[in-house]
Amino acid sequence: MPKIINCTKMYITERNRTNTIILFIKKFRDDLNTCYEKIQLSYFYYFCVKLLKSKTNNYKSITMKIIKLLIICIASLFITQGWAQKIKSTNFEVLKMDEGIYAVIHKSGGHAICNAGIVDLGDKTVIFDSFLSPFVAEELLEVVEKLKLSPVKYVVNSHYHNDHIRGNQAFADDVIIISTRKTRNMIIKEEPGQIQKDSVYAKKEFARLDSIKNISKPRDFKKSRNLMEWYGYYEALVQTTPILKTRLPEVTFDHEMCINGSKRSIKLRSFGKGHSIDDLVLLIQDDGIAFTGDLVFINMHPYMTGGYPDQWINNLNELRHAGIKRIVPGHGPVGNLDNIDRMIQYIIVIEEQAVTMYREGLTFEDIEPLTIPEPFNNWWFEEYYKMNITFYLEKIAKDLERQ
Ligand SMILES: [Zn+2]
Repeated sequence: MPKIINCTKMYITERNRTNTIILFIKKFRDDLNTCYEKIQLSYFYYFCVKLLKSKTNNYKSITMKIIKLLIICIASLFITQGWAQKIKSTNFEVLKMDEGIYAVIHKSGGHAICNAGIVDLGDKTVIFDSFLSPFVAEELLEVVEKLKLSPVKYVVNSHYHNDHIRGNQAFADDVIIISTRKTRNMIIKEEPGQIQKDSVYAKKEFARLDSIKNISKPRDFKKSRNLMEWYGYYEALVQTTPILKTRLPEVTFDHEMCINGSKRSIKLRSFGKGHSIDDLVLLIQDDGIAFTGDLVFINMHPYMTGGYPDQWINNLNELRHAGIKRIVPGHGPVGNLDNIDRMIQYIIVIEEQAVTMYREGLTFEDIEPLTIPEPFNNWWFEEYYKMNITFYLEKIAKDLERQ
């Protein structure tokens, strides 16, 4: 069968050659765009300085000077924000972290609910977390297309919670979903019941929030934002539960997995028990960036119910020393190592509060009058503070039972 072997070889060689040409053209186009933007910006600064330095002695020339400056400012906005102009979503905003690395940050009232990540490895793109709604996951694919990134080959699920996995079904069959083995098992165990619960509970809760939203809009901005967050959450559940088809991860691992591309490599690392039974983090070591999933929340009270606070603190300390500088959390804006410290502080505060209450013989009713200490009193979802203390008090009781 030498003829077939030759044909296969020829085909592979031809495909490689085509891929190389495509990659070369893409790189040339990117370099050209970057170069073009730099030239445009240089012109912008040159004209600004020239205009500001030029002597003006009458009203007409001053007016002309202001008009010209305004035109240049507007033009520069279009140049520098060219790619951002193309992406408009009520569900998220896209932030460029580095060339080919994007943080997708959920918007208040939208249907994304959690953050996601887009990482172009040069010859393939990896999506980190797929949102609550398959419809919003479809928008992620549009973003990849608009940014002219490499085709999506992998979708990573950081953990099993619904807001991080339900967009899986939006991706084509040849896209591979990855998670840790424990996360896959938890999706199998929890999702059918969770979807069932969501389909009943979400309708009632959405109707309740809808009536509040329409009758009286809270004047307090924080309360208003919290209401919008929940409104978006339940609205997405009502819209999506009838069409949900749980798509399980096809590839799993236990500890670590590397994905290598032509431009960069990424590491998927399991941190084990923390926020969930197994928290997966995407590390881009060369760029000092981590997509942490719900191991880190920024400016928001974390959801601790069902978590493992002691191991969570250890894992946050480990992440702090993983050689990264910038963090894309599971919820909240992009941050840095200080935000990891604040998360550790937060869990310690919850633990101390619960232990003190237990020692003083206080019960769940005594949680209600508690006030949230600084700096956490400005975080979103303040209702989680009391929920987290309740969870910790229950944990103390369970731990004592076991002894
Ligand atoms: Zn979660």
